[in-house]
Amino acid sequence: MAEMNQTAAEYTKENPFVATLVENRNLNKEGSAKDTRHLVVSLAGSGIEYTVGDSLGIFPTNHPDVVSAILARLKTDGREPVVLAEGDEPISFQEALETRLALASPNKKILEGLLDFASDETDKAKIKDLLSRENREALKVYLAEREIPDLLEDYPSVEIPAQKLVALMRKLTPRLYSIASAPTQHPEEIHLTVAVVKYTTNGRERFGVGSTYLSDRCPLNEPTLPVYVAKSHFRLPEHGDQDVIMVGPGTGIAPFRAFLQEREATAAKGRNWLFFGDQHASCDFLYEEDLKAFQERGVLQRLDTAWSRDQDFKIYVQDKIRENGEAIWEWLEGGAAFYICGDASRMAKDVEAALMDIIQTYGGPAGPEAKHYLRRLRQEKRYQKDVY
Ligand SMILES: Cc1cc2nc3c(=O)[nH]c(=O)nc-3n(C[C@H](O)[C@H](O)[C@H](O)COP(=O)(O)OP(=O)(O)OC[C@H]3O[C@@H](n4cnc5c(N)ncnc54)[C@H](O)[C@@H]3O)c2cc1C
Repeated sequence: MAEMNQTAAEYTKENPFVATLVENRNLNKEGSAKDTRHLVVSLAGSGIEYTVGDSLGIFPTNHPDVVSAILARLKTDGREPVVLAEGDEPISFQEALETRLALASPNKKILEGLLDFASDETDKAKIKDLLSRENREALKVYLAEREIPDLLEDYPSVEIPAQKLVALMRKLTPRLYSIASAPTQHPEEIHLTVAVVKYTTNGRERFGVGSTYLSDRCPLNEPTLPVYVAKSHFRLPEHGDQDVIMVGPGTGIAPFRAFLQEREATAAKGRNWLFFGDQHASCDFLYEEDLKAFQERGVLQRLDTAWSRDQDFKIYVQDKIRENGEAIWEWLEGGAAFYICGDASRMAKDVEAALMDIIQTYGGPAGPEAKHYLRRLRQEKRYQKDVY
């Protein structure tokens, strides 16, 4: 009898599907300060279904140099068994460091734990000083600039058994990426648009775990990438004849590429308007060819771009939105849905402020009423955000 296959519904965060990365291409051109990857993940054989607007959760593996640094400092080959939580099956310390534990962003608890294993008075005094009430701000800065190996190096007298360190560490969590493809066009694969996170702190180059796993360490054409689909509230309008306005600078473009593919595949009659932005038109125009082709095929009616560093002053998507205030207002009054995807820390707030200005300026009621208008859009699912 043939072995029973798992059904797609069984693939979850707790039981991910082991997918295969089949394409990994830089979307930025020469001269760019950025590295943004177009990645194609094959779901062949999984039966997994997804909807545009969903995200893909991936379980990354930590950078091997960081794992090695911890093993070397603790003078172990990593083969000793450890348990992550009481009652768990033991796994090797090395495996725990590679795939299960967060090696970056240490917290206060770890430092407190290390104090118990420091034998040298100078080390103890340094840790106690950082943990003192007066040094709360300094502690924040200190921890933000360090990963676990930095801490172990800072206090050479600390001798901590593997299991004790494991108990102090946080779990490595899966990373989410907005899906950049539509199942109607790519039923057995998922496309992602991933900004590679690399930076330097405490004099060392750091590698964002999820993004650099995908860009640099995940092998191509081998089933090694555990994934699951994370369902989202971020959805196209139910009716294809509704217009949509999409604001997606940088990697915020991802779900809108999926939206456009879906609108094309379903022959949706509503108009599509995209605001995209990044640093330079010449090297940071992600999916330029795709977007121009959507325009030529009549899928994308309007495309406005904001290049922040192509002139002496900065231009962002919110500036382009303000410039087009009257037309945006007309689209909204005609029933359009407004979407924002990308950076939550500044962009989404600035775009929302621009939208509020438009509501107030063009026919909209002033003051708190504009908030009311936005609330109504939200209730009607005509104002949606996928920001991170
Ligand atoms: C719903 C959702 C959808 C998303 N979609 C996408 C997407 O489509 N594309 C995409 O690229 N990302 C997306 N993200 C973000 C993504 O999940 C990860 O957070 C991102 O890739 C960084 O993860 P990482 O593991 O590479 O970095 P991590 O190892 O998590 O490191 C990131 C951390 O490093 C620190 N850091 C980063 N830069 C610096 C710096 N310059 N200086 C000092 N410290 C710094 C910060 O503490 C930051 O939190 C999405 C997130 C969510 C929640």
